[in-house]
Amino acid sequence: MTSHPAPRDGRALHQALDSSDAAWIVTDTQCRTSQVNAGFERLFGWSRQTVLGQRPLQLLLGEAQDGLLPPHIQQALTRHGRFAGDIQLRHRDGHQLWVAAIINRMPDEGEVMVLTDITFSERLHALQKQALEDVAQERPLNQLLHRLCEEIERIAPELTMGVLQVDEQGHLHPLACPSLTPEALERLDNLPIGPDMGACGTAAFLARASAEDDLQHSAPHLQSLNQCLLQAGLKACWAAPIFNRERQVTGVLALYFREPRGPNTQHLRMAQTCIHLCTVAMEREHSRARIHQLAYYDALTQLPNRSMFHRSATDALHAAQGRSGALLFVDLDRFKLVNDSQGHAAGDALLCEVAQRIRAAARPGDVLGRLSSDEFALLLPQCTAAEAEAVAQRLLDRIAEPFIIGDAVNIPHASVGVCTYPEDGTDINTLLRHADQAMYVAKQHGRQRWQRFSPEINQFAQDRVAMEHALREALHNGELQLHYQPQVLSHAPEQLHGVEALARWQHPDWGYVSPMRFIAVAEDAGMIQDFTLWLLETACQQLALWRSQQVQVPQVAVNLSTKNFHDPGFAQSVANTLQRHGLVAKDLVLEITESVMLNASPATLANLHALHSQGLQLSLDDFGTGYSSLSYLHRLPISEIKLDKSFVQDLGNSVAAEALIRSVLSIARSLHMTVVAEGVETAEQRQWLQQQDCPVLQGYLFCRPLPPQDLPGWIHSHRARQPSSQVNALHTS
Ligand code: C2E
Ligand code: CA
Ligand code: CA
Repeated sequence: MTSHPAPRDGRALHQALDSSDAAWIVTDTQCRTSQVNAGFERLFGWSRQTVLGQRPLQLLLGEAQDGLLPPHIQQALTRHGRFAGDIQLRHRDGHQLWVAAIINRMPDEGEVMVLTDITFSERLHALQKQALEDVAQERPLNQLLHRLCEEIERIAPELTMGVLQVDEQGHLHPLACPSLTPEALERLDNLPIGPDMGACGTAAFLARASAEDDLQHSAPHLQSLNQCLLQAGLKACWAAPIFNRERQVTGVLALYFREPRGPNTQHLRMAQTCIHLCTVAMEREHSRARIHQLAYYDALTQLPNRSMFHRSATDALHAAQGRSGALLFVDLDRFKLVNDSQGHAAGDALLCEVAQRIRAAARPGDVLGRLSSDEFALLLPQCTAAEAEAVAQRLLDRIAEPFIIGDAVNIPHASVGVCTYPEDGTDINTLLRHADQAMYVAKQHGRQRWQRFSPEINQFAQDRVAMEHALREALHNGELQLHYQPQVLSHAPEQLHGVEALARWQHPDWGYVSPMRFIAVAEDAGMIQDFTLWLLETACQQLALWRSQQVQVPQVAVNLSTKNFHDPGFAQSVANTLQRHGLVAKDLVLEITESVMLNASPATLANLHALHSQGLQLSLDDFGTGYSSLSYLHRLPISEIKLDKSFVQDLGNSVAAEALIRSVLSIARSLHMTVVAEGVETAEQRQWLQQQDCPVLQGYLFCRPLPPQDLPGWIHSHRARQPSSQVNALHTS
């Protein structure tokens, strides 16, 4: 082992103490200075001669003090013989200095003080505190960064600081560079990052610090930028990346020096502190933007949500100051079916696409929002009613362009309600309500169309509520009726194939109410199950009654609503009703629309298959109008297709209608299905359908829907009209 060599003399120690940046002070028992080092002179600006024999703190604490140590330091020295802590002292020229002080009291000898300048650290610390407070108080990012830059420039006047953002495309954008000239900022904005793109661009690209120690010698492609910097008196630049939590470069911190140089250790410490603060502030800004996005934008379509729409529309209405504009309420037709049949992912894809199409149809300044799952609103400031209608039509056309999801082609359809301001309302709530009512009427009128709001529509909407009450009562009091429309075989002698039961409601005040209207009300108001039970009961009872009167009606068809299939007990109710009236499955035809088939919910499928296994016949109504997909014909137990009356009525005018009917007939033949052509009104239609071998015809040409007591009479005269009436005994004995 070696022992420590004894100091050769005190000189080495003195030299070492003099070269230290810290101030050393030794006092006697009277607290008067006996020795100081050169560091003392450098730190406080006082000469050794001035301080010797004086109480050191009398100089350093300023006039207010008598040179005695502050009480807390006194206390520590008396109790423990030692004090360590930060104190604020004064330089000879009056400026404040923060120093870390270590004071040791040696009994009977005096004190030794070591004072280290921590002004810089203190200022950095204060700056950090201020910036974090700014973050906590949600001060806007650019203001916060601006302040940070200015503070740094106060601490280090030899430089100026800037913070730049890096966008997702890898371009720089100045966030806060308070001392750069507008020309320099313009040149910096949108500058691509790259391995040779100046200190900032390189630091962002390589994700590490980069320096240009002399801007005068820059690459030609950076000359115009650097010229601006040089003109502003900046001669060098050092930059370092700012990362987010995922370690992606989101910004750059730049220090511009007024001399050609690089950063010293203090500069690097400052930069490190500032980069940390920038990260915190930028992350915070990012999450604030994210929260805003989540609170006000719909996550699926990225459109403003209902509350954001409300706000922006209210602002727009406010700004309108009496100028006219319009509100469009867009609702997708049968959206739920896509969701149910093709799955939620398909539904989501469709919504995004439609949102995109609406956005594309909107003009700059229009206010767009998604109100709920398949409802959108578009406020058109400064537009006339005619322009609004044109926009509505354009929207409908755009939305209805084919859209492929997986291997299915969808034609999204929508209904649009249009109202204008100030005529139809001046506040957003009223306008939304009126546009919604108009949209509802558009749906009632067959969907895929727009409808202008009118005071009658408002009345209509109010009537709906009244209708709901009245319908409930009518159902309860037996005021609803069924009429029956004959369906005949197309070839002579046009035997009766069956009858279709159609609901009728004669209201004491309102008169005849179309089933289209009240069925929709029953569906919306949750009355459709009760209604359908009544319908089945009445139709079966009627058929049994005709049979008992020897009126030969081969079968009765009833119309079902999609919602009936959501009731798990529905198939059983049908079976029970038949049984109660002594009927069998083949006596009843259940007319469903394609929407039932598109709804693949387990309850629906279970009902369909239960009905099929009981031997009931399912007929596909309104074929050709909806999401016609022949593939469903194979998959589900359908025995009959009803060609929609719109095709029959197009006969003679539309080659497409004729082609469609021909192909439906040929597919149905190959699948052994019956086809019923609805809405046959003319002899020409009948003839054409006969020529195509369409098996069953129904329409006003033969008979309108009849009250049940009139049917036997019609059967009788119909038989009499037939060429070989004697062969065709419609009455059995
Ligand atoms: P739908 O099932 O397509 O019924 C055929 C509609 O066409 C009936 O209208 C019928 O009166 C009408 N029609 C029959 N022949 C002709 C014709 O030659 N020309 C024209 N232009 N129309 C003809 P209605 O009775 O007004 O019924 C309308 C719709 O209301 C029905 O369409 C059906 O969807 C619904 N509906 C009627 N009754 C019921 C019911 O009891 N339950 C359910 N769920 N829906 C019903
Ligand atoms: Ca029908
Ligand atoms: Ca129909």
